[in-house]
Amino acid sequence: MVTNKLNQAIKLLKEYAEEQKPKGKFSKYFTLEELVRSETATRKGIKNKPAKAQEVQLQNICKLVLDPIREHFGEPIRVTSGYRSPKLNEVIGGSSKSQHMAKNGDCAVDFKFLGNKVDLVKVFKWITEESKLNYDQCISEFLPDGWIHISYITTGKPNRNKNTVAVVKDGKTIYKDKE
Ligand SMILES: [Zn+2]
Repeated sequence: MVTNKLNQAIKLLKEYAEEQKPKGKFSKYFTLEELVRSETATRKGIKNKPAKAQEVQLQNICKLVLDPIREHFGEPIRVTSGYRSPKLNEVIGGSSKSQHMAKNGDCAVDFKFLGNKVDLVKVFKWITEESKLNYDQCISEFLPDGWIHISYITTGKPNRNKNTVAVVKDGKTIYKDKE
């Protein structure tokens, strides 16, 4: 028990240290690696490498959406799921139309804050009601304990700024428009 807590604390410290490193040219606060890593892909040996055009899509969501959120709240963000190859998306049970696959000039990211330092309910409210961010869809996924899903379209259709709330009803997840 104590060892477990200690290990978690060490992991968090390492993640903070990782976040403080210079990020190169990808975006101010994020690396491509953070957007493509997946424990499931590693564990199951699934290839999860985006094409060049998809890398640009991922870079755009970092620069135009995630960096401003990170900057506004002043705390490190942890991407819990970014790019997913079709195979990875299938294995983890993602929707067949998931923007995480970055198939249509788009891409999506699920995120939380490191150490749950920021209340995601407030973050969702800020993104959808106060920020001037341009994004395609923002989903409150089972908050306050869950995560925020946000997507951005680089080429093709215009971004919709659509706001959605995921809730569980009778054991099933349903998505409805934010009121
Ligand atoms: Zn998602």
